Amino acid sequence: SKVLVTGINGYIAAWVGKTLLEKGYSVRGTVRSEDKAVVIKQIFAEAGYGEEKFETVVVEDITKDGVFDEAVKGVDAIEHTASPFHLKADDPQELINPAVNGTLSILKSALRVSGSIRRIVVTSSTAAVVNPSQLPEPKLFSEVDWNNQAIEEVKKHGREANQVTKYRASKTLAEKAAWEFYNSNKANISWDLVTLNPPFVFGPAIHLPSTASPSALGTSLLDWYNTVATSDMGGKSLDALANVGAGWVDVRDIALAHVLALTKDEAGGERLLISKGEFTWQDFIDAANSLPPSALPLDKLPKGNPGAGKSCQHKILYDARKAERILGLGAEVKYHTMEETSKDSLEDFARRGWF
Ligand code: NDP
Repeated sequence: SKVLVTGINGYIAAWVGKTLLEKGYSVRGTVRSEDKAVVIKQIFAEAGYGEEKFETVVVEDITKDGVFDEAVKGVDAIEHTASPFHLKADDPQELINPAVNGTLSILKSALRVSGSIRRIVVTSSTAAVVNPSQLPEPKLFSEVDWNNQAIEEVKKHGREANQVTKYRASKTLAEKAAWEFYNSNKANISWDLVTLNPPFVFGPAIHLPSTASPSALGTSLLDWYNTVATSDMGGKSLDALANVGAGWVDVRDIALAHVLALTKDEAGGERLLISKGEFTWQDFIDAANSLPPSALPLDKLPKGNPGAGKSCQHKILYDARKAERILGLGAEVKYHTMEETSKDSLEDFARRGWF
């Protein structure tokens, strides 16, 4: 069967595509320009997936109604991952418009074509879940939680809102729009909806050609690279390295979650938090420094303040038990560990001559 993956040239989407191909699916990926199609087709061809398994469609402006009509024809499922993830928007609409209207546009095309489509998976985020205001006590967030606060703050502060808040608002509004559309059209469609909500995604990059420089990395992996693999640790203080905590998951595990979300019946109609657990940057620096030195120039790694991340009192915790139950992630299928993610990322960077 064939799966449509939007924004196939993105960090997570390329892994979603590769995982689908490895499991025998054919993949049709959307990109914004022909130049980008050429690059990603080359990457998949080198991995052994030629045009009979992997094809691309150019969709220049995902926010326009009808632009996905051709792309959705004849596919069995859709993985909608295309959405801006950067922290440099002046007007919050730079993020909100493509996030919300890109999602609605593909759902509308899927409604018109319906036919063979069985399921649509939308890549949401814990950004749509977590209300990050100063928590006095640790809080366990789950699928029942919505980040309405980011929407309110953006309404109130507009362009002056914090950059992360603008991104979080775009993800919350997009996911809400997806569920509203699905719920109001349920009677007329052949497919159901799943949303996946990962926290920070780290791990090796397969979407970039070998000539790329680190600046081509997306927001999450660029932060990891700067912090763990460069001497100035991304400009973070020792205190920030040890005490700013968040959730994370390996890119290959969130990619696998996208595939499992297609195959598990019980996933239909569900919102699923996908998280390996909490980290501090110091924890990742320690994990990287603990690796066997054989193939990697580990002496170049920064050290920070070893062990200092262990005593971080994490305030934001994620309950990933629903995904464990439905997808088997964290049960039959183990999540990658910090050591594995660090090793594979550093080997990727070393191959690229970045480290
Ligand atoms: P990337 O930046 O690597 O990929 C984003 C993809 O979306 C690219 O294909 C990009 O196309 C496309 N895209 C961005 N803006 C637009 C736009 N305005 N119109 C059309 N397409 C656009 O990001 P990630 O792989 O990290 O993120 C993928 C998804 O995962 C996003 O929905 C993101 O919100 C979500 N996510 C990411 C996390 C992370 O830590 N990385 C964590 C949680 C969720 P182009 O190359 O042309 O810009």
